[in-house]
Order: sequence, then C-alpha cells, then structure tokens
Amino acid sequence: MNGPGHQAGSVAGLAGIPRAISIARRVMENTPHTFLVGENAHSFAVREGFLEQDQLTESGRQAWQHWKESQTASEVAHFEDNRSYSTTPVLLTPESHDTIGLCALDQQGNLAAGCTTSGMAWKIPGRVGDSPIIGSGLYVDNEVGAAAGTGHGDEMMKACLSYRVVLNMERGMEPQEACVEALRYLMRKVPPELHQNYGAALIALRKDGMTGAAATRSGFKAPNQIWQWASMSDEGLVLREGVYVSENTIETKLDE
Ligand code: ASP
Repeated sequence: MNGPGHQAGSVAGLAGIPRAISIARRVMENTPHTFLVGENAHSFAVREGFLEQDQLTESGRQAWQHWKESQTASEVAHFEDNRSYSTTPVLLTPESHDTIGLCALDQQGNLAAGCTTSGMAWKIPGRVGDSPIIGSGLYVDNEVGAAAGTGHGDEMMKACLSYRVVLNMERGMEPQEACVEALRYLMRKVPPELHQNYGAALIALRKDGMTGAAATRSGFKAPNQIWQWASMSDEGLVLREGVYVSENTIETKLDE
C-alpha cells in the first residue's frame, strides 16, 4: 500500500509462483483493480513476466507428511474430501506461520506498508488470511501513519486491526498505545479459550516518524523469549523488545 494516492495492490491464493508481494505491486501499478486471487492472479503474474517455480521443497513435503501422520482422520479430512471439515481451530505455533510486515516513511514524508506471507500452515485449500487484506494485514493513511500485523489471521481479519491502529493514531494515540488498544479490542472479541494458542502482533509508524509495536504474548514467535521487532533509521538497524498485552496491563516480562 502506497500513501500518495491511497494506492493498494494485493494477491492471494497464488500457487507455483514466487514473489507474491512484487506481483501485488504490479496489481497496484498496472491495473485499475486492488485484489487478484487464485488462477487469474497466477496468469496475471505470468503475463507480467514473473517466472513459475515449484514452491514445494523437500523439507516442506516431509513436514506436511509428518503433520498428516500425527493428525486424526477428521483433522485431515478437508484435504481428502471437501465435504467434511474439522472445526478445530488451527493452532498458531512458532513453526506454523511466518509473515513479514513492514512500514516505511521517505524523506518527503510519504508512507508505505507491505505484508507478505505463505499463510498459516495446514489450512484448508483456498483459505485466505488477514495478510493480503487492506485494513487487516496492513493499512496506510498518508496523512496519519501506517500499520502492519502478523499472527492468527482467522481471528485478526475479523477485527480490521491495521485500520484500527491507524485510526487510533488519527485520534491522537501514540503508535505503541494505538497497537495496544487494537490488540485489547481483538482479545475482547476472541473467545477466552482460544487465548492459549493465540497470537497477534502489530507494528505502527506515525507520519512524524515515531514507531511502536505490541503483541498478545511475550514469546510471540519463539516460546520463552521476548518477541522483537526491528526499526531502521539514520542511526541504523535496531532490534527492539516488544511489549505485550495481558488482561489489563502492558508488560515486557515473559509469560508464566
Ligand atoms: N497472519 C498470517 C495468516 O493468518 C500468518 C502469520 O502472520 O504468519 O495466514
């Protein structure tokens, strides 16, 4: 998403072609549309000169095999027979997801944001998460700020979190406060029994260059570690320890 002109481009459901975020940029720059999906997004990418490439690695194939063998029949049924589904929520583990979200501000004061992912593992084919959805996985208002998110997209996408972070900044909140408020909103909406397996993290960049971030748990990515986020400025790259939101407080210590 590019601040000037409020421009955005997205793709989802792409298979057999890498560099999804670059294809999304072409949607933004070369079409009158915002969001292309599935086979037609793939055809668009090929027409734009992107090369097809098998994305399944041997380690990925083995991980899938291992996961499948460790599940009950009903939990894998949706891959074998589309008429039968498990309603068990997909667990968010350190290995099961890996999204990159970023926000940028240039010397002219223009903002941009990007969000790219292969999505949570072991999903039903066709499932789209929060990441490519404008307002959910990322959002930019060039007069206010930018935000991006990662985590359990099936819950996050119902709360329009990135939009909420930017709106919070527009209403006067500091970037970190804006992220904390959005996550508290999310946690009020998510059933408490899901909080155990549940994770979400947000980053924010305000028009004046101030940054902030927050997560729903201390070890967002790696259990027993405080999660970190990165900021880059004239002073160089800094890895920061992120705060996390518990019921009523903001904390930086590890979960029990
Ligand atoms: N948000 C992504 C999804 O739900 C996962 C992630 O953040 O890594 O697909």
